Amino acid sequence: MSVFSAPAWDGHELVVFGSDAGTGLRAIIAVHNSSLGPGVGGCRMFPYASDEDALHDVLRLSRGMTYKSALAGLPMGGGKSVIIGDPRRDKTPALMRAMGDFVHAQGGRYVAAEDSGTGVEDLRRMATRTPHVSGIDDNEHGGDPSPSTAYGVFLGIRAAVQHRLGAATTAGLRVAVQGLGHVGYHLARHLREDGAVVYGADVNEANLARAVEALGVLPVAPAEILGLEVDVLAPCAMGAVLNDRSIDTLRAGIVAGAANNQLATVEDCARLQGHGILYCPDFLINAGGIIDVHYQRAGLPAAAKRAHIERISATLAEVLRRADASGQPSNAVAEALAVEYLRGAAPARETTTPLSQAALAATIR
Ligand code: NAD
Repeated sequence: MSVFSAPAWDGHELVVFGSDAGTGLRAIIAVHNSSLGPGVGGCRMFPYASDEDALHDVLRLSRGMTYKSALAGLPMGGGKSVIIGDPRRDKTPALMRAMGDFVHAQGGRYVAAEDSGTGVEDLRRMATRTPHVSGIDDNEHGGDPSPSTAYGVFLGIRAAVQHRLGAATTAGLRVAVQGLGHVGYHLARHLREDGAVVYGADVNEANLARAVEALGVLPVAPAEILGLEVDVLAPCAMGAVLNDRSIDTLRAGIVAGAANNQLATVEDCARLQGHGILYCPDFLINAGGIIDVHYQRAGLPAAAKRAHIERISATLAEVLRRADASGQPSNAVAEALAVEYLRGAAPARETTTPLSQAALAATIR
């Protein structure tokens, strides 16, 4: 298996492979860029079909975290870890403690958080071996970052609606939410409270029923949600839903959702643009969760966290403005802005990173 010439390789600072014979742990930690702080990102457990697939995922995801944290104005770099295995079958307390040892061995260059296949209990087990774990404190933030992610996505939708339609709220607009899980449910709640008509689909019937009953979401079959004629489509289930096949069938004016890596390829953003669809980069508008993780980790107040999440609107408005002015796809513009932040060159950073030195030190500890 090649690392330095892997398709998702992007000059990552650190890629380490770890194993533990006693517990069966096989894992990879990647730190993409640490110019703004330690590489913070989720620890994903998934039954990857091959080591190459696991490497591809960790390289791609850690790079995405660099851009996400930079654009969110956080003193954090991009990191991610993957454990190769089925979380329902292979996960044991001993395996998670061994993962804690593996994280600890990186000396704080990587800080682990929850991701798919791991939960707060797993992180707590890791934390018995290392302090480089976040999102486990029993404080006012409540642990689960999903409501913060949903709030940021909701504000992103509003900013996009303002940009495209000149409307201050989503009242009366039609929004389709794909996936009504942790983030999708709270997003649907914000939209309903704002007066939007919300259509929702979920392959999990219990999750769909909860949103229909509690929020008045209008149910749609999973196979139909992407092609619905709506003002906004919010993918909140899985990645790569925007691809050369699906884009031709979309009938939404705006795509803005929580799912990571919604674009199957970089070309798909230009493809959306070609169809006149406004795309809000996922790593920009779904940053509420990582902002939450930062505030939990640094022990900062929830009110300040909310204000920080609210800056997503201004950053998105700036990206959409630049995209209009340059004709470039919004994704490329957002990445370029993140690189400016990484280099400390963007003047906007002054307004997006008003963190005290104490908070900064707490995060980097
Ligand atoms: P989740 O697993 O709680 O919810 C996902 C929902 O999508 C589930 O209810 C699932 O049944 C449904 N789903 C799966 N396939 C579907 C399909 N084909 N059609 C319709 N529904 C389908 O996950 P989540 O925490 O809500 O995260 C949603 C997405 O947002 C993921 O891509 C995640 O990586 C991303 N994200 C989450 C956070 C967070 O704070 N949780 C932060 C950033 C990004």
